[in-house]
Amino acid sequence: MKLRNIAIIAHVDHGKTTLVDKLLQQSGTYRENQRTVERAMDSNDLERERGITILAKCTSVMWKDTRINIVDTPGHADFGGEVERILSMVDGVIVLVDAAEGPMPQTKFVVGKALKLGLKPIVAINKVDRPDARITEVVNEVFDLFAALDATDEQLDFPILYGSGKNGWMAESPDAAHDVGMQPLFDLVLKHVAPPTVEQGPFRMLGTILEANPYLGRIITGRVASGTVKPNQSIKVLSRDGKLVETGRISKVLAFRGLERTAIDEAEAGDIIAIAGLPKGTVADTFCDPSVDAPLQAQPIDPPTVSMSF
Ligand code: GDP
Repeated sequence: MKLRNIAIIAHVDHGKTTLVDKLLQQSGTYRENQRTVERAMDSNDLERERGITILAKCTSVMWKDTRINIVDTPGHADFGGEVERILSMVDGVIVLVDAAEGPMPQTKFVVGKALKLGLKPIVAINKVDRPDARITEVVNEVFDLFAALDATDEQLDFPILYGSGKNGWMAESPDAAHDVGMQPLFDLVLKHVAPPTVEQGPFRMLGTILEANPYLGRIITGRVASGTVKPNQSIKVLSRDGKLVETGRISKVLAFRGLERTAIDEAEAGDIIAIAGLPKGTVADTFCDPSVDAPLQAQPIDPPTVSMSF
């Protein structure tokens, strides 16, 4: 299976949810037949109440023969390297910026971390339909922000798309014919973002997102670093410093298909998946085959970022 793993970075209200909905619709992902375990998005009441993204979540769309896993990044100041770990699952980021507002604190906060991890950004100037859009200025602001965040020359050479998530299009020019839909965005992701690098060896996955599920218990999401994983497989969990946390069996392997989470028979290296059945393993632990004896390297833990102004 051809894969791409990306994150979308956006300040609250810049249109991330609307964009992902259109990507799902236009890729036809909604029509897929699937065995649904639960709805992945909108699962958090607090989030719905506040109307902001608190938890990182994943979704995936099929474009041509490639599955694009899309990871959501929390825009708030994090603790314990959460944003870095989430960004470590992906090979590219889409930085979505409102054409009127320009880059905002949450854009800066997450982009800073993405650039530091060496990710190559794609910039998407969104809401160009707004009468108060300042497209050229906003592109310059994004460039200045990246430069201020010590972007490399390669990162500064970012491709730009313009469009309106709400109206369902993204194109290389703000004046493009809008019937192109999201195809330019999908094609750019396939071209600009590298496929996930995978290592040889037995199953290993760094625990990245932890959730409690009323039916399945603890669910750990991560990117499979090597090997494959199946339900019923024996698993060992190692802490960051290599201590044995627990051994056990996987009850379910879940993949993100559209907005749903689906039980699958096997997941391969490079894919972003979730596993259930291990009651103790947590974020930053390594979930692996019993033959493995060294944990994967988690991103270093940063002190919480206090100031988000620029
Ligand atoms: P999120 O907080 O980043 O997930 O943003 P949402 O997708 O919830 O969108 C925030 C607001 O912006 C909503 O009222 C959307 O209808 C609006 N919006 C989203 N995309 C566009 C767009 O392309 N143009 C305009 N004018 N408004 C948009």
